[in-house]
Amino acid sequence: MQLERILHSQGFGSRKICRSMIRHGEVTVNGELCDFPFTEFETDNLHFTVRGVAWQFRTQAYLMLNKPAHYECSHKPQHHPSIFSLLPAALLERGVQSIGRLDEDTTGLLLLSDDGQFIHRMSSPKWKVPKVYEVTTKHPLDQAQTTLLLNGVQLLDEPAPVAALAADIISDHVLHLTLAEGKYHQVKRMLAAVSNRVEALKRIRIGNLALPDDLAEGEWRWLDAAMLEAVS
Ligand code: URA
Repeated sequence: MQLERILHSQGFGSRKICRSMIRHGEVTVNGELCDFPFTEFETDNLHFTVRGVAWQFRTQAYLMLNKPAHYECSHKPQHHPSIFSLLPAALLERGVQSIGRLDEDTTGLLLLSDDGQFIHRMSSPKWKVPKVYEVTTKHPLDQAQTTLLLNGVQLLDEPAPVAALAADIISDHVLHLTLAEGKYHQVKRMLAAVSNRVEALKRIRIGNLALPDDLAEGEWRWLDAAMLEAVS
């Protein structure tokens, strides 16, 4: 594929803009400067830089973000900045969307993609991949609360009780809660239903994919094939 088309396909703007960046010497491919927009490259395993930032050619984008608090999972945020402001413009240009949402004050693992089918499948209620939340609570935790969470609690507007898959007390005020669904404010409502209250909430795992320790809040990372497998 021609370099100009490659950059365009990866979200770096119109073909005219991409051509201009290439001609101005802003692009290297596999370690070498390339200033001729019509040079042909194999896209398999193609590494390139644009203005010094490293990229790899991806037919489709799959990524994870460590969401900070006080960011909204919306393109039209109401009170706080959007999580999309944490991503490079090229990814936004490609139409990357978040898979589900975390509340404005929730932190942790969020998946994003520009693959419509993948987003649809993963956002469906049928997607029962367990999600683990680290919950910091206002009141001390006890066995009675976790038993209720595991047996199922009745939430307002839900037709049937909702149960956690696992509820592990980590310390007096920290619980690891595993849920199969992603209902609106589900963790907060479940904790309220057992007379406790969420003080802080962080999603630490989706399926077999754990939030990496070295991914700081606000940072994103590509998902590789093994990571994609882990959340599917
Ligand atoms: N449950 C909540 O209450 N909030 C979230 O952001 C995610 C799950």
